[in-house]
Amino acid sequence: MDCLFCSIIAGEIPSKKVYEDDVAFAFLDIEPFHAGHTLVVPKRHTADLTSDPTAFAELAPSVTKVAELLKEKLDAPALNVLVNSGEVAGQSVFHLHVHVVPRYADNPGIAGMARRDPDIDVDAVYSKIIG
Ligand code: AMP
Ligand code: ZN
Repeated sequence: MDCLFCSIIAGEIPSKKVYEDDVAFAFLDIEPFHAGHTLVVPKRHTADLTSDPTAFAELAPSVTKVAELLKEKLDAPALNVLVNSGEVAGQSVFHLHVHVVPRYADNPGIAGMARRDPDIDVDAVYSKIIG
């Protein structure tokens, strides 16, 4: 199957991995909304939120672990968790993924949540997380 996120999980396409367990693989988003924006994806391929009745529930503990990790390593006081399910909702990669988006006091609130920020130094952010 030709799936970008399956290829990332398999290591065929490089990614900045921040977390992995039996169920989930998590890596930095290539075009982050905010510093540390991470995608948590199930290792088992499923296209979206409603394609598999248990995938989202299975993923939840891993999402929480990633959220805790990002808050601690990046000193983020808050975060948003988002799933886009279906093309009309903005889903562009059809392998279920949960966006975990750390938030910072200098840019608060839901209105500014989903704007890409080209000024983020993704390598520096990654060093903080894995260091
Ligand atoms: P969505 O629009 O909810 O389907 O989210 C897909 C996300 O995947 C977007 O935020 C993209 O920036 C991100 N993305 C696409 N390709 C890659 C990649 N190779 N590595 C990391 N993130 C990616
Ligand atoms: Zn896949």
